[in-house]
Amino acid sequence: MSLLDDYAHITGDDVIAHLRQLAAPFSGAKVVHVNSTRVGGGVAEILTKMVPLMQELGIDTSWEVITGESQFFECTKGMHNTLQGNQIHISDTLLKVYEQTNANNAESMREVLTEADFVFIHDPQPAALLQHFPNRKGKWIWRCHIDASHPYRPVWKYLRQFIAPYNASIFSLAAFARELPHPIYLIPPSIDPLSDKNIELKPGAIQHVYERYSLDPERPLILQVSRFDRFKDPVGVIEAYRLAKKYIPSLQLVLAGGEATDDPEGSIVLSEVQEAAQGDPDIHILLLPSDAHLEINALQRVSNIILQKSIREGFGLTVTEAMWKAKPVIGGDVGGIRLQVIDHHTGFLANTPEGAALRIRYLLNQPDKINEMGNKARIFVRDNFLITRHLREYLTLMVALLYGSQDRIELSRSNLQPHQR
Ligand code: UDP
Repeated sequence: MSLLDDYAHITGDDVIAHLRQLAAPFSGAKVVHVNSTRVGGGVAEILTKMVPLMQELGIDTSWEVITGESQFFECTKGMHNTLQGNQIHISDTLLKVYEQTNANNAESMREVLTEADFVFIHDPQPAALLQHFPNRKGKWIWRCHIDASHPYRPVWKYLRQFIAPYNASIFSLAAFARELPHPIYLIPPSIDPLSDKNIELKPGAIQHVYERYSLDPERPLILQVSRFDRFKDPVGVIEAYRLAKKYIPSLQLVLAGGEATDDPEGSIVLSEVQEAAQGDPDIHILLLPSDAHLEINALQRVSNIILQKSIREGFGLTVTEAMWKAKPVIGGDVGGIRLQVIDHHTGFLANTPEGAALRIRYLLNQPDKINEMGNKARIFVRDNFLITRHLREYLTLMVALLYGSQDRIELSRSNLQPHQR
């Protein structure tokens, strides 16, 4: 059975038929994705599935990874942080390494990128490749996965000179987009329903987390999964739990985050969280390894309600993951949480611990509401935030770039000409 069939079980056959229809004009076309790592991080996770899905649709898709020395990654880490708002100076020496590394990679990828019909360049690391392909025949698209809403100006100005000549750019949310002299597309991220983080679990695997983390299956449980970061407001979650617990004494809270890393701020926030918990045996602070996908999946499934009380948030994939498991989410009224939590329908938006506590009590007192909102949440994710939608939008973008200057685009198989090369 094909990978597409696996997704058809989840999305329905018509979604897959639509993908096939959109992909038809690109049969045999060459598409190349370029990023900076094959494993680790959201971009690699998406490409791991996106590339085989495009191949199955008959598109000759490949995935190239830019390689460089440590100074290159030091520079691009700085670019990432400055695009997200940190005011850090990046030295000319590092910028020279960035340009030289892109020049070297352009040589090693010359054939595949010159021949490609569409090139998706992910994030800043490989952004400077384009200038080395003056005779390219394909359309080049810069795909920004970063919250670039308030970039440090000097670094954005520097990067912009490489990005401006692209045929199009993609940002995840309107708020993240920058002004550029080409079409901008807004394509939100997605989750993969077949990944370990989201796949259906057998009852045994779900039961297992109760024992493993000493949780009581008979008592209500609320969960926030997040790095220990002040923007995720874990201390606010504890306050909301305390306020709700006055009325629901059996309430349990799990705060699941990554195990202590070399991020000094992470350990400070973790100590603040531990202090706020004051040894309450019903507050479970879990430090999970970065590959604990099945555990997080199970924790999300055993919880009655999921919190994401962020005070700033990019998209909030934890929200998508929770909603996919048919859980109502009480989330901060910020960033991408607003795209997902439709207040009073798929969950509640709350700005304060008091507001969150009120919603926790409301929902725990009405199990029917939890089910009703949870089911709406799952349908909302199915229709908007699965990888199949992400793929559909990439294909739609390719159609738009291919036929963009024409007055009429007919998206039916019989009317589409085979891809012109
Ligand atoms: N995550 C995880 N372990 C943790 C905390 C988070 O695996 O201890 C995952 C979480 O399930 C989600 C991603 O990391 O897939 C976090 O993405 P999100 O957009 O919610 O927040 P970010 O950390 O990117 O700000």
